[in-house]
Amino acid sequence: MLVLFDIVIIGAGPAGGSAALFAAKAGKKTLLVDSDKSMTKRAWMENHYGIMEISGPDLIETGKKQAAKFGAELVTDQVTNIVKGEQGLTVETAEKGSFEAKHVILATGALVDLAEKAGVATKAGTEPRIKTVVDVDAQGKTNVAGIWAAGTVAGVSVHTIITSGDGAKVAINVISELNGERYVDHDVLKTN
Ligand SMILES: Cc1cc2nc3c(=O)[nH]c(=O)nc-3n(C[C@H](O)[C@H](O)[C@H](O)COP(=O)(O)OP(=O)(O)OC[C@H]3O[C@@H](n4cnc5c(N)ncnc54)[C@H](O)[C@@H]3O)c2cc1C
Repeated sequence: MLVLFDIVIIGAGPAGGSAALFAAKAGKKTLLVDSDKSMTKRAWMENHYGIMEISGPDLIETGKKQAAKFGAELVTDQVTNIVKGEQGLTVETAEKGSFEAKHVILATGALVDLAEKAGVATKAGTEPRIKTVVDVDAQGKTNVAGIWAAGTVAGVSVHTIITSGDGAKVAINVISELNGERYVDHDVLKTN
């Protein structure tokens, strides 16, 4: 029997990396699978609130390190399909086998081929150069039970502050559903 992850996130750009950080920090068994084709690898940011300037590669690497610090497992591979599994959803990869998940978050940037193959409904995009996006509700849920979407692929404005925030939002919604109550993650400043 495959190991059951609480949340498998597909795509380690700002949306997926941020979702993985929140999921892992909440104590959820989290897997982040990425094919290393992020559009953010070509970006230079001077408009991400709280950071004076940062390269796309540095933002992504820092995000992955933050998620790993709290226990997220990282796999570099292409996800080829998501099908109904014995315990939840089975995430199939090209080379590293399959992984079982209670919930899957699609954070695949400009790519909707995986979503379409998995039977996830798409619609026309509104943002420049983003032709098709996944059809999500306000929570980030798709038409397929257990599959959610966040970031560019979910149709939000294509800026790192927004895609990373959307990844966090959707992860918080998944965590809340798993916990059966609204989740909040607040660390308090230590004073002495
Ligand atoms: C040249 C350029 C300059 C930019 N400059 C700025 C800027 O100055 N400021 C700003 O805010 N934004 C900028 N952006 C936009 C910014 O990159 C995006 O807003 C944001 O990073 C998109 O994040 P994302 O996580 O949705 O997608 P991405 O960063 O594209 O990540 C998606 C990830 O999903 C993975 N993936 C896709 N399909 C699969 C699959 N089947 N299996 C496994 N993994 C998969 C990909 O490999 C990729 O790593 C720029 C973008 C570009 C291209």
